[in-house]
Formats: sequence, structure tokens, C-alpha cells
Amino acid sequence: MAKQDDLFKNVVSHAKEYGFIFPSSEVYDGLSAVYDYAQNGVELKKNIREYWWKSMVQMHENIVGLDAAILMHPTTWKASGHVDAFNDPLIDNKDSKKRYRADVLIEDYAEKLNQKAEKEIEKASTRYGEAFNREEFVSTNARVVEYLAKKKEILERMAKSLEEDNLADVKALIEELEIADPETGSRNWTEVKQFNLMFGTKLGASAENAMDLYLRPETAQGIFVNFLNVQKSGRMKVPFGIAQTGKAFRNEIVARQFIFRMREFEQMEMQFFVKPGEEMKWYDYWKNTRLNWHLSLGLGRENYRFHDHEKLAHYANAAADIEFNFPFGFKELEGIHSRTDFDLKAHEQYSGKKMQYFDPETNSNYTPYVVETSVGLDRMFLAVFSNSLKEETLEDGSTRTVLTLPSVLAPTKAAVLPLVKKDGLPEVARQIIDDLKWDFNVSYDEKDAVGRRYRRQDALGTPFCITVDHQTLEDQTVTIRHRDTMQQDRVKISTLRSIIENEVSMKNWLMRAL
Ligand code: ATP
Repeated sequence: MAKQDDLFKNVVSHAKEYGFIFPSSEVYDGLSAVYDYAQNGVELKKNIREYWWKSMVQMHENIVGLDAAILMHPTTWKASGHVDAFNDPLIDNKDSKKRYRADVLIEDYAEKLNQKAEKEIEKASTRYGEAFNREEFVSTNARVVEYLAKKKEILERMAKSLEEDNLADVKALIEELEIADPETGSRNWTEVKQFNLMFGTKLGASAENAMDLYLRPETAQGIFVNFLNVQKSGRMKVPFGIAQTGKAFRNEIVARQFIFRMREFEQMEMQFFVKPGEEMKWYDYWKNTRLNWHLSLGLGRENYRFHDHEKLAHYANAAADIEFNFPFGFKELEGIHSRTDFDLKAHEQYSGKKMQYFDPETNSNYTPYVVETSVGLDRMFLAVFSNSLKEETLEDGSTRTVLTLPSVLAPTKAAVLPLVKKDGLPEVARQIIDDLKWDFNVSYDEKDAVGRRYRRQDALGTPFCITVDHQTLEDQTVTIRHRDTMQQDRVKISTLRSIIENEVSMKNWLMRAL
């Protein structure tokens, strides 16, 4: 655990030191769970957004984009169920005065049981080697069976209590399991209460006439209310999707995990409208497709897992999370939800406007069902960034900090470095930059010895360093150094574009997802 904590601390400090993420309004000591993306962070974030957009919108003939406003008519949130049901169960510790999400305390307890089971499985797997049969072991080993059964029982009981709004039982469960405040160990808890996560604001000049509004807590509703506008103006045929990226706001109860849980964050969502009865087929399709998208980034298959929901939201008939192995363990990165016709029906009812699709093949109207994929852009950032930050010991015993970002996402693709600041080398370096900057984000660096400059670029995740030296003046060649292998090759300046393109092209990376 200590090692994990250290890694997480390194992630936060590296993000600040190298201009990726700053606390919001830091001169005033920051604002809790709100962050600003700095000069390198904004590039990485933009690249993640584009990688998603390319694969979801441009690579699918039947998916189009949308950019709906953050402020929406307040009835939207009545219809969507957010006014009545967008609550988290909170619990306070009377001694430490710390506030927690009751469901998260219980889920963390269940996860510990899971980890105990995994440990047993790992031990047995090492002991038996090739002959190990995981499935058989999991179903027959007494300890593993007990851990997993207990985990299931706890999660099912919690799901039922939350479903029935039986908060007393949620508290009882916390007490029975003897769950303590993770920071202080105290078990002196208050009752469990519901807390609505929406931020309210007002529209209008005078207090009497002002209209109460909410900052949207998800981007999805902007898609639902525009369903017919897009379908008609785009002549879309079911099945089709509408995709959108944008800010969402939640007054989170506990927000202590850097950009994992923010109060202002960005979502990348796609709502896929399908014929009723076909939703499970599409639900499976999108689960697979989205996992493959994540895998294409090469962060390691073992760092992802599906978590199928026991407790379904009021609108869903199936839901799964793609969880990622963050520095603090496996947590939700993306949600895939089969939302039925709940949203369109609700907006139809509240607005009095028809929200149906006319199917030209059957000559009839129906309300489409919806399968949603929803991933947090900031969580993607954290996944990619934390997985890439490494301390390496080199052959000569020295160490280097390197950010092995997938090169397609790296903020800067190449740094051009004149070996010395004279003899015409800076001018040649500038010419190379002037040529490459049309295609790639490139930077220039002439300060310090070249070795230090390499280290600086390693820490920023720049895939290539291009060094201009005296030989360049004679034969138009430069050295190109690869971030991960540190290998240096001598190449013609005229080949630089294609070398970089080959490594960073979105096409090459996304093809891996197919
Ligand atoms: P959690 O259980 O972690 O609160 P959720 O199930 O409420 O998440 P959804 O409503 O399904 O999340 O939102 C879709 C995605 O939006 C999540 O998978 C996550 O990546 C992202 N997200 C949700 N809340 C936050 C937040 N407070 N900060 C950053 N990203 C978030």
C-alpha cells in the first residue's frame, strides 16, 4: 500500500512540476476537487478527446456529434430523475468529522475480500505452475469460496437496501462489518443520509424572477432532448448514435483522489439508439468495442476488468463498468449502460412532445432503446498518465524519470535540439521545426547539456528528440532518439516526417483496436 501511495504522490507532483495539472485558483490555496490543465496537460487531454472522437464519430458512419449547452431547461432534470434520485448515501464519522460515501466504504470492504481471494489464487497458481486450473480452484478451494460468497452477499444486501432506500440497513451493514474510518480507525458513525449531487444556479437579473437552474451533472440529457432534431435533420436511421464531449458538474461528497473524482469534469458520452429488443446485442457490442479501444493504447490487458452492476440505476436494465488499475486500485473508468427507453419516454411525458422514431421498414412508430457509453476524460487522463510514469534504473546505475505515454497521445511529438547554441546549428533546428510544425506539435530546446535536455523530454513524454550537430551541416542528417529505448539513429532530415508519422499516427494506433 505504501508503494501505491508513493506512486500516487509522484503522479500528483509530476503533473504539477512538468506543467500538466495545477490546483484551481492555487494563489487562494485552491478549490477542493477542482483542477486546471496546464500547457502540457491541455495537449494530452485534447489528444485523448480526439482519439475518442475519431474512433466513435468519424469511424462510424451512423454516429454523429453534438455540442449541447451546459445550461438546460430545469424540467430536463425533473424528467431525467436527477432532481429526485441523483443522490449519494453519505455518512459522517463523529470523531474525525470526515465525510464518506456509505456505498464506497462497503464496496472497498468487499474489494478487500476479493483481493484476499486473488492472493490465494495467485499462491496456488505459483505452486501448481502449468497444471493449475483456475476455474476449478475458485470453485473448490474452501477459503476462496468463502471470501467470494461473502463479497457477493455483502454487495447484494447493499444493492437491495439502496434500492429500497433502506438507509438504516446500510448503516447496520457498516456496523456489522465493523468498517472503520479509513483515516482514523474510528467506528463512531452518524446515520446514513441521501445527498443530491447537482449544483444549482440562477438565471435572470432580479431575485424574484430568477429561474432555478442546474449545471448539468451529465452530458447525456443534452443528447436525449436533441434526439429528434438530430434524427430528422441528419436523416438518421436506427440504429444510430449521437456523441458528445463536454463539462459536467457534481457536488461530490468525497473528492480526495486528484482528478479521479472532481466537482467539475469532462465526459465523453455516446448514446446509441436501437430498436427495442435489440438492446442486449448492442450492449454486448459496445462493451467489447469500448474495451478494445482502451486496449489499443497498450497500457496492458491486466489493468482492465469489467464489473457488472448488481445495483442498477433507475433507468437501466443492464450496466457494466470498465475498471482500470489506478494507483489506488481498480476503479471505474467507463460505464456502459443499457438505459431502455426511460429517458426518451420521460422527456416525452414532461414536454408533451413526441420523441418517437418512424421506422420506414415497418411503417410504424416506436420509442428507441438506448445503449450508452460514458467515459470520464479526466479519468482517462489519470489512467494514461499514472500508468506511464516510471522510474527506470539504467545500465550505468543512474536513474531516469520517463513518461511512456502512448505516442499518439503525447503532448509534444518531437523536440528539436541544437547540440550547441552557435555555428548555425540553432538556425537549422528552427528550419526543421518550421517544417514539422504543420503536422505535429514540436518544441525547441537549446538550454543545458544535451543529456539533461533528453531527460527533460523523457519526463514530458516526448517520443522523439532530434539533435542537430556539426555533421548535419555537411550531410543533412540528424540523430533521432527514441524515448522508450533511448536508441539513437542517424537519419536524413527529409525522412523525419515519415518516421514520426509512422509512430504517432492515430490510424496506426486505432487499427490495433480492430
Ligand atoms: P462513480 O461511481 O465513480 O461516482 P458514476 O457511476 O457516478 O461514477 P457515471 O454517472 O456513470 O459515473 O459517469 C460516467 C463516467 O464519468 C464515469 O465512468 C467516470 O469516468 C466519469 N465521472 C463520473 N463522475 C466523475 C467525477 N466526479 N470526476 C471525474 N470523472 C467522473
